[in-house]
Amino acid sequence: MCAIASDEPAGLVKRGLRRPVEPKIRGDEIVWRCSLCESFEELADRIWRAKFLLLRPYPQPPRGELQWHSILQALGLELWLDDEDELVNHYRHGDWVLRINDADLTPVRRNGIFVPVIGFRFLPQHTPTVTQNGAQRIADLTELSERSQGAPYFGALRMDVDSLGRLFAEGLGGMASLSRLATFSRLLTVFFEGYLNEICRKVAPERLYLLYSGGDDLFAVGSWDAVIELAEKVRAEFRRYTCHNPCMTVSAGVSVHHDKFPLYQAAEIAKGYLEAAKNFEHPDGHEKDAFGFWGRIVDWDETQKWLRKWHDKLVEWLETRQATRALLFKLARIAELHEEIKRRLERKLELSQQEVERQLKFEKWRWRLVYTIAREKAELQSDLKGLQEDLVQRDFIRHLLLLTRWTELSTRR
Ligand SMILES: [Zn+2]
Repeated sequence: MCAIASDEPAGLVKRGLRRPVEPKIRGDEIVWRCSLCESFEELADRIWRAKFLLLRPYPQPPRGELQWHSILQALGLELWLDDEDELVNHYRHGDWVLRINDADLTPVRRNGIFVPVIGFRFLPQHTPTVTQNGAQRIADLTELSERSQGAPYFGALRMDVDSLGRLFAEGLGGMASLSRLATFSRLLTVFFEGYLNEICRKVAPERLYLLYSGGDDLFAVGSWDAVIELAEKVRAEFRRYTCHNPCMTVSAGVSVHHDKFPLYQAAEIAKGYLEAAKNFEHPDGHEKDAFGFWGRIVDWDETQKWLRKWHDKLVEWLETRQATRALLFKLARIAELHEEIKRRLERKLELSQQEVERQLKFEKWRWRLVYTIAREKAELQSDLKGLQEDLVQRDFIRHLLLLTRWTELSTRR
């Protein structure tokens, strides 16, 4: 969000640090930006193209207007994110050159110039692109929304490792040493800065944009259905990466928005869901390790897997016309009815929570469910009886509204 556009920090402009650049016309909008924000856009474009990281000391004070480059220069560092051509142009004897996301240390030779590569580093740079007039550029939120399966929305995902401070402070018990802590920290970095690129590629390469990933957390946007899948996949891979250590868990928050919804607000909403997931307590007493999905918090292993299984099944039925959308709306109505009755019972102050739960089980949502399912096609009966049993016996009725909303969005044309 550019400060020039709203509350301009006049001091910065007066001192010549920030200046508004010429407004640009984009579609039907006029965009005003300062030099810093404009340079961030250029940086985003450099990151996904970059194959090399070039570093050199910068002993003099920064020159020119305020840009991302000049902030690093003020810290005594000059940094370039380059492709092969740019690298050969920028390289000066003594520079440090690191290859990005590839441990290939072969020197670069071009036009008689020899550039030694001294190492490599991971950079989370997974970016969806569009080809326009023969050139590639980053896909925008509207394009990512249009690439969704079902409703044309985008999703925002915030995700991080649970109780990281405690893991560092207490996780190694009496065995904590500087080298063990450094190894622990480095291995988390390998997952979030390196492997995340790979997970995005596996899930949906052209529909996910990894805006930030490092340390122990990440922020990604993309086609909303791919973003949900990314959350599930990151969680599953993180469990595998940590050998299913019960202390190493992650939580996530996903929000879904219309393509014109401001990104910074989407990021805040997804963060709110992530924070709500951090307050989740499981039936066995362990905390966090949960998924904030559209404002509802679910556990990963039982509920999210159950939601995924039934979502995929319902979507398949609707797409192959084995079932009609009427079934979906009837199920949604039953879920709403269940919630209405629950609220009504909870208002009766003389009932304990236990009594509310007991009475709720025998309310009319239950016979309406049995009646609805019995009237569906014969070939769906055995599957639907399984659904009915889960809803009634395993109490998944609590998540039926989320299931029907998710399925409805996935199958909306
Ligand atoms: Zn700005």
